Amino acid sequence: MTPKPSSASNPPPRIVVLGSLNMDLVLRVPHAPAAGETLQGHSIATIPGGKGANQAVSCAREGAQVRMIGCVGDDAHGTALRNALEQDGIDTAMLRTVAGEPTGTALILVEDSGQNRIVIVPGANARVELDEAALKQQVQGAAFLVTQFETPMDQVARAIAVAHGAGCKVLLNPSPVQPIADALWPRIDTLVVNEIEAQTLCGQAADTPQQAAQAGQALRAKGIARVVVTLGARGAVAVDADGARHHPAPKVQAVDTTAAGDTFLGALAVALGEGQPFDDAVRLGIRAAALCIQQPGAQPSIPRRDAVLQSPLPPDWTAL
Ligand code: ADP
Repeated sequence: MTPKPSSASNPPPRIVVLGSLNMDLVLRVPHAPAAGETLQGHSIATIPGGKGANQAVSCAREGAQVRMIGCVGDDAHGTALRNALEQDGIDTAMLRTVAGEPTGTALILVEDSGQNRIVIVPGANARVELDEAALKQQVQGAAFLVTQFETPMDQVARAIAVAHGAGCKVLLNPSPVQPIADALWPRIDTLVVNEIEAQTLCGQAADTPQQAAQAGQALRAKGIARVVVTLGARGAVAVDADGARHHPAPKVQAVDTTAAGDTFLGALAVALGEGQPFDDAVRLGIRAAALCIQQPGAQPSIPRRDAVLQSPLPPDWTAL
């Protein structure tokens, strides 16, 4: 089924994203240097990234009205990240510049073999402090609060509580994965996890679509309406009250899978916010992510809705 874009009579959904912003410094190198070795690299690229910012950009390019909550440092990377969001029409009024902290940075070494080695310095991302009153105002009437675990856990938990209390649905991507407090589970509407995060959170393997379906059911039983387990090249498994379905991904040549999960999540969130059925939303996410991985880098590789709708349809889903 082809997802319907928003129409004028149906205003774009509003989405509030709380999360990280990183500048990705991508160094292409023959191999990772050994201790004491000085190595000549092939190239360096400075690319806007960070899970929170990537997801915000994906939501915006899918047509949502997006507001980003987070922190950058008072430096050139902070200014560049703020500008990048604004170029996508994202409201940055709640993006704070923190004096004396560097902007979050991800140093990514890409070896000739394709293997990545990544060091993340959270910097200003660790300084996110929620203004509950301001957040309450923002989430009122919004389709979703979207958040992840790259900003301090206590602030994420507070934001989830505020959104839930204000009647705004919460879409959580618990990455990098860490345990979720019992009180938080029933406040989450939609959970998006990859196979490793699913396994960590429910203690059972989620490598195959069948296992992912079982893991998704176990996570749903904690009080969540919908769970998506993403399975890389094998697509994703959607789990809700109607059961579990495997949505295969189209076969494409992967150039760089950075931001694939974030792209998927943004497309899913916007489609759900538009009122599209869960399976159509997952399918849109799979098409968007397939386009993302055919381009290098994080934010530059996130497609717009019109490109997603022009891309080939993935294979049909199957009930599990
Ligand atoms: P994460 O990057 O968060 O670990 P995944 O690797 O599961 O997430 O990827 C997220 C989504 O991106 C997948 O559900 C799939 O739709 C898409 N994807 C990732 N890798 C590929 C691939 N090699 N071919 C096609 N789609 C892919």
